[in-house]
Amino acid sequence: IMFFDKIQAAPADPILGLGEAFKAETRPEKVNLGIGIYKNAQGETPIPRAVKAAETRLLAEEKTKNYLTIDGVAAYNAATQAMLFGENHEIIANQRAKTAQSLGGTGALRIAAEFAKRQVQAQTVWISNPTWPNHNAIFQAVGMEVRDYRYYDKNTHSLDWDGLIADLSQAKQGDVVLLHGCCHNPTGIDPTPEQWDILANMAAEKGWLPLFDFAYQGFANGLEEDAYGLRAFAKLNRELLIASSYSKNFGLYNERVGAFTLVADNAEIANRAFSQAKSIIRTIYSNPASHGASTVALVLQDPDLKAQWTDELDEMRERIKTMRQKFVDTLKECGATQDFDFIVKQNGMFSFSGLTAEQVDRLRDEFAIYAVRSGRINVAGMTDDNIRYLCESIVKVL
Ligand code: PMP
Repeated sequence: IMFFDKIQAAPADPILGLGEAFKAETRPEKVNLGIGIYKNAQGETPIPRAVKAAETRLLAEEKTKNYLTIDGVAAYNAATQAMLFGENHEIIANQRAKTAQSLGGTGALRIAAEFAKRQVQAQTVWISNPTWPNHNAIFQAVGMEVRDYRYYDKNTHSLDWDGLIADLSQAKQGDVVLLHGCCHNPTGIDPTPEQWDILANMAAEKGWLPLFDFAYQGFANGLEEDAYGLRAFAKLNRELLIASSYSKNFGLYNERVGAFTLVADNAEIANRAFSQAKSIIRTIYSNPASHGASTVALVLQDPDLKAQWTDELDEMRERIKTMRQKFVDTLKECGATQDFDFIVKQNGMFSFSGLTAEQVDRLRDEFAIYAVRSGRINVAGMTDDNIRYLCESIVKVL
């Protein structure tokens, strides 16, 4: 008897599949605006110097490969809480937060989903439309119902605030509401501080379980500024879940460094709830890998390395902002008649360009330019060398 021959092929991941297609592309003028990785002016994804320095030190000083605990490197978890809430935040002082190092932001999301389903008996999760496609898949995997809330107004290229409020008004007590901490993927559009305050208040009044996906801290306006939304929620809500990631801001993509954090009403409840999160981890991967998290912890604990890293993070953010402006200017120079100024206002690496799926297909077929069919483009994939070609090509498919 054979079992595997009846298995149907899974659909290729819409974003990771694109990376494979790009690798196989032979036209030398090819441009990759697909997957969300940062690239510098030379089109490379370098290891930040502060990370390299910390790794070098770790390698010299490391004495054992003994297992970590289920929740990982303690110093890393503490540093993560300080990043999320700010040093000496009431939540930290009162030990209301517990953090487990996870396999990237994705791993943290999966732990959060399992936790919400099993321990809070949450049935429904509310996810923005559009969103990072894996959000839907992760919550479906744990058997939760996925509902979406409006987010993007394609006519004004801005937040569909009225639609968002109307849809989230239907979210019930105990429903999980997933929010992008900053640099909304794929639109690059974030709520304003005033809007965050309104949402935080709504969450507390309605009794939602808010889940923050915080994958781009430092990529919008700065480490502190970007935490506004999360901290607004932390002020008004006694319980929160957070899935954070250092993939982008530390350039540690393939080391898989993220964190699952839960905030409870007090330390005793936090410990009890966290023991269940640890049981979940135990059955998935037992305990995490050391290298990436130890590297982050070392950088964040060492004032010199931390200063160097924040400089490098500022550089990344500034480069993206500069390329956004250049992109809009060059499109104009190349004869685009539409108004693309909205692109300058978006946060993070992504821009929702307004390109249709057909236009994205033509860019790939005729010009070897790869983007996600939703029209999401990675601005960090633009360089002084390819921007002219890119804009000329886009104008031809408009
Ligand atoms: N959430 C969002 C919104 C993302 O864009 C990403 C990365 N593409 C992640 C989570 C997961 O990041 P990681 O690579 O750390 O798993």
